[in-house]
Amino acid sequence: MTYKILTKEDIATLGRIVGTEHIILKKDIAIDLTHDELGAVSAYPEIVIEVNQTKQVSAIMKYAFQEHIPVTVRGSGTGLVGACVPIEGGILLDMTKLNNIIELDPINMTLRVEPGVLLMEIAEYVEKEGYFYAPDPGEKSATIGGNIATNAGGMRAVKYGVTRDWIRGLEVVLPNGETIQTGGKIVKNSSGYAIKDLIIGSEGTLGIITEATLKLIQKPKKSVSMLIPFLNREDAIEAVPQVISAHSLPTAVEFLEASSLRFSEEFLGKRIPHANYDAYLLISFDGTTQSQIDSDVDIISDMCVNQLGAIDVYLVDTEERMSSVWSARGAFLEAIKASTTEIDECDVVLPREYIGPYLAFTDALSQELGIRIPYFGHAGDGNLHIYFCKDDLSDGVWQKKRDIGFEKMYEKAFTYGGLVSGEHGIGYVKKTYLEKQVGQTQIKLMQGIKKVFDPTNILNPGKIT
Ligand SMILES: Cc1cc2nc3c(=O)[nH]c(=O)nc-3n(C[C@H](O)[C@H](O)[C@H](O)COP(=O)(O)OP(=O)(O)OC[C@H]3O[C@@H](n4cnc5c(N)ncnc54)[C@H](O)[C@@H]3O)c2cc1C
Repeated sequence: MTYKILTKEDIATLGRIVGTEHIILKKDIAIDLTHDELGAVSAYPEIVIEVNQTKQVSAIMKYAFQEHIPVTVRGSGTGLVGACVPIEGGILLDMTKLNNIIELDPINMTLRVEPGVLLMEIAEYVEKEGYFYAPDPGEKSATIGGNIATNAGGMRAVKYGVTRDWIRGLEVVLPNGETIQTGGKIVKNSSGYAIKDLIIGSEGTLGIITEATLKLIQKPKKSVSMLIPFLNREDAIEAVPQVISAHSLPTAVEFLEASSLRFSEEFLGKRIPHANYDAYLLISFDGTTQSQIDSDVDIISDMCVNQLGAIDVYLVDTEERMSSVWSARGAFLEAIKASTTEIDECDVVLPREYIGPYLAFTDALSQELGIRIPYFGHAGDGNLHIYFCKDDLSDGVWQKKRDIGFEKMYEKAFTYGGLVSGEHGIGYVKKTYLEKQVGQTQIKLMQGIKKVFDPTNILNPGKIT
């Protein structure tokens, strides 16, 4: 599809909507705004517009719709699938200045925020008031708009679910500039098609989120983590379903391997306590009373050591240990990235029972292709993050091995009932694999939905389908 190239008149009109000081022309656009955190795809927009009001977003979209100018929305750019990259040029809408916390409602236990508020700012704000917004994606500098647009997951999904489960309402600007409200402060909603849930996870292809109402709960009073070493990966992974089905509900169940921990230790420049074994589960619990948590810890410790082959159980219960172990876990991606020249990521999600065989398959593939493939995972919800590392391969060899490898990884995942992405989305770089997963009928349904929202394909074109 061809789009209009912006003229001086277009830029002047857009400047009148937001103020010329909020427009960045192509020659002044920083390279960081041309890619996301993975960096596998990059493109310059013609202009960047910083918005700080919904009515500006609406006016820009009305104009872009009328003039047939492509628009791509960007939060913090921490995505990993090229979703915020303006591959058709046009306007890049920077949402990070639309970033007020509007209202904490203690009666309905909701928080209204603008989309540019960062995840870490939400946590700090609500926890100070005794409340808790539970989704916990690893990258705390992501915007809530980006989290909603990708239906971000994170470590606490085992107990609390993902971003979608915590969104009560949205204000959305449609590609033609109209503004809609969907959902609200309500707890239940059986009122027609679930437009809110369609927007969540749509990666900025259906509408622009300009406000969100988040669900809050009371902040858990206590939390504790356990680092549980196992002799090998098989034992650790096989323990996961048993831990989950025991009479206790962990907040997080993460799988760590010695090789990935070494990357983190090197990257952070510090040793992690008790990190002398091949494989670990990092399990955490939270709750309102110490006795409840003690009971959960006792059940799982006893089970892991006496029935599931764990070597020991280390309680991670001081601030210092907690920060050391969880910062090592949080640094995996950065650490793996720092260990090589380029990475590409497979974010598959599988039924928990297949994690073990899938990782064995991954190791065999690494041998077969002769490339390094480190991984870690949210073992509790079956979501694995598997990284192909380019190291010193030439561009041509890397691309060939990566493409063959990815093809095989996804094919294998599908045979286990797995899906292309558990939390990072499809964006630009995983489109082919989505089509292989869902088939033509569902791709056509998705294309039909896109057409209803965005009949002239101006909003984040070229993504998802
Ligand atoms: C170290 C690291 C750890 C990570 N850990 C996790 C994790 O645990 N779980 C997880 O799910 N992800 C994780 N991510 C991925 C990333 O942080 C998430 O995808 C995040 O939701 C992206 O938010 P962002 O503000 O950076 O959005 P961007 O990357 O800027 O954009 C992502 C998508 O959202 C769209 N978008 C952004 N704002 C809006 C809006 N207001 N309206 C409509 N569309 C919008 C964009 O168009 C794009 O399609 C991690 C990334 C890194 C680098």
